[in-house]
This record gives sequence, structure tokens and C-alpha cells, in this order.
Amino acid sequence: MRKILSILTKTSNSLRTEQLFTFELVAYISINLVYLLSMHRKLPLKAYKYRIYPTDAQVVFFTKTFGCCRLVWNKMLDKKLQAYKKKERIPGVTPAEYKKEFPFLKEVDSFALCNVQLQLEKAFKDHFRNRKQFKLPKFKKKRDKQSYTTNNVHNSIRVDFEKRLLYLPKLREGIRVELHRTFDGKIKSVTVSRTNDGKYYASILVETENSRNKVVEPKSKACGIDLGLDYFVTVTNDFMSYKVEHPKYLRRGEERLKRLQKSFSKKQKGSKNSEKARLRLARQHAYISNARNDFLHKLSKAIIDENQVVVVEDINAKGLLKTRLAKSVADSGWSRFVTYLKYKAEWYGRTFIQVDRFFPSSKLCHRCGYKNDDLSLNDRTWCCPECGETHDRDVNASINLYFVGLGRPEVTPVERALVDDRSPYGLPKKPSRDETGSLTVTG
Ligand SMILES: [Zn+2]
Repeated sequence: MRKILSILTKTSNSLRTEQLFTFELVAYISINLVYLLSMHRKLPLKAYKYRIYPTDAQVVFFTKTFGCCRLVWNKMLDKKLQAYKKKERIPGVTPAEYKKEFPFLKEVDSFALCNVQLQLEKAFKDHFRNRKQFKLPKFKKKRDKQSYTTNNVHNSIRVDFEKRLLYLPKLREGIRVELHRTFDGKIKSVTVSRTNDGKYYASILVETENSRNKVVEPKSKACGIDLGLDYFVTVTNDFMSYKVEHPKYLRRGEERLKRLQKSFSKKQKGSKNSEKARLRLARQHAYISNARNDFLHKLSKAIIDENQVVVVEDINAKGLLKTRLAKSVADSGWSRFVTYLKYKAEWYGRTFIQVDRFFPSSKLCHRCGYKNDDLSLNDRTWCCPECGETHDRDVNASINLYFVGLGRPEVTPVERALVDDRSPYGLPKKPSRDETGSLTVTG
């Protein structure tokens, strides 16, 4: 209740100082109220993402809305940044202030503009809370991925599963949508986005009773995961050690990406051929990013299903990114993989441990505990002078991490798996498809 009051006083403050349209105010308060009420009731929310096929007229509307959101974001950000640079108090800004100067703002969905304001406020709040993790918000460009979010008020957003249509505010005719799966529950909001290869998606946030994941009983007590260069990861569990390769389709995709980049840079800027090459490049980027995400989700889910305790090393990706390993780290998606493991562990009631980055997982002999300080990055195998055992560098490291997992008594029981799968701030949304797939396992 105190939160609601503070928001109301904040809004009335901005009312006193700035012009605010009543509708804008109502929208602002109702978005906040809906959000607070849903927080209070702790209703599980789930996002469903669908490909949509807008008509030409709908594309025009989306383009207009994206443009207005971008304009309002950039204007408000500019005002805030100017105050920030002068070390003044950062002013509260509303989209309404710009409606006089840019009357076309009235033509688009005002919830979309309101959400821009909320997103910007959140971006600044995050930055002041944790400057290292959250950089200052940036200006939006026309070339970037475009999106806007609108809220469901009085059934303004509907899905017709039979006719396969999605209805959004300000659009009379439904949008053709590929409903590859159904959902039931109340729609909270929809985010419409256009990727830079020209595809449109709608991500529908739904309040649903039924979102508990099926929890599988783990077969292995613990596992240690070494993040490698030759192989994506090396895993040791109760039964064996195995290596997972980088998928071949990703390698091939990256080769094609390089070729397309070269061809794009050779084309004359602004020409028709250059635009075609840009599209081909954007499509390939999208393909690789989807394929990699898919691989990371399937692998992390399989590991979480298999083990009760999951141990990884702290890769300190930011430190590594400055070294020659940079490209390999950025490409392989380790940090995303670790994030996926972390939140899936929470969903499925597993224990996730990230060891200190000073833990010498590669240097310790797993058999006798001897520490090999001379081990360099290029040594793929080494022989322990104490006990004579020959080690594969990655397997040895993963076994040491596995031992860390075995030594941890505080194991979360499976029954304590989270019922509410709302994704915490900053973490990716829960994957929407059933994730079971085969993995490339060798060794
Ligand atoms: Zn040894």
C-alpha cells in the first residue's frame, strides 16, 4: 500500500510541475496498479511468443508506433542525461510533454508510450542500484530491433484461437498469428517486435494457474562442469566424464556469416545490392542466435534434469573478454549458459554452485591433491609428479568441480522446486517450448 501511495504522490508531483494529460495519468497509474496487484497476489506469469503476419496497413501502424516510442525514449533520455551530466537531480519526464510538439504521438497506443516511460525509469533505477552491471541507457536507432509493449485493459487485447487472430488496441482488424501452442489465462500485456531481418513477433504475457514444471528425479547426486575451448563443456557426474562439442551447424553458420559480412562490406553503401546483402546478413545473425540459444537451453535442461547439485567455475567472462580468448568466449555463449543453469536450477529445485574464480580446478590433481602451478593454458594434458596419473586437463578440472558438489551437504529437496516461474529481473524469460533434445556427446 505504501508503494501505491508513493507512486501516487510521485505522479501528482510531476503533475504540478509539468503538463500531463488525464488519460496519460490514468494509464500510468493503472499500469502501476495492475503491476502491484499482480505482485501482491503472486500470480504466476508466463510469456508465449508467436510469429505474427501483419497486413500492409498493420505494418504501417507498427512502424509508426515503433517510431513514436523511439522518439519519446530518445527525447526523454536526452533530457535526463543532460541533467545527469550537469550533476543535477534527474527530472521526471512524461511522454505527454511532447504531444504538443509532435501531434502524431496522439495517433498511437498511449500505453505503448507509457511503457517507454516506465522502461526508462527502470533503466535509470537499475543503473543507480548497480552501475557495474547496468550501464546508462542508450539512444535507440532505427536500425536496431524495434518493439513496443501495450497492456490489456477491458479486453483490449484478445486472441481468437479458431480464426488464428490477435487483436491489439487501436487495430480494428485482427493480426494473423501462427499459434503453435495454446494457453489459457488472462492476458496482461503484449510486446510486438520486429527483428532486423524484418520478421514480426508478439510476446503475450499471461496470468496462468498452470505453470508448474514437471520435475524429474535426478539420477546423479552432483556434476562438475568445466567450460573449455576445444569442447564447449566437459562434464563429470556420478557415472562418467563426457565432453560436449560445439554443434557443427553453428560452426558452419559462422563460416557463412563471415562470407556474408565480407560481401556486405564490399557493396556500395545505400545501393539496392547493399540492402539485399544487409538483409541476408541480418537473417544469418538471427539464425545463429536462435540456433545457439536452442543448443544452450537443451544442454542446460538436460544437465539440470540429470543432477541434484551442479557446479561450474566462475569464468569471470568480463576479465576474459579483454584477453585473446575474447572471441571464443563471446561466441560460445558461456555466460548465457551459466545464467540458464542458474535459473533452471532454481525452477527445478536443484543446487547451483559457482566456485570462486581462484579455485584452481585445472591445476589440482584430482587423485592426490597435488597443485601444479606450472600449468599453462596451452597444456592440454599433464602428468602428476606425486602420483604419476596422466590428466586430460578438462576432465581433471570437471572432476575437481564434481568433488566440490559432493562435499556440499545443503541440498535443496526436489519438492521445493519453485511453483512461481516468473523470471527474476534481468534473467531471460522462461523458454516456451518443451525442451528435450539429443546432445552431441563424445568421450
Ligand atoms: Zn596426483
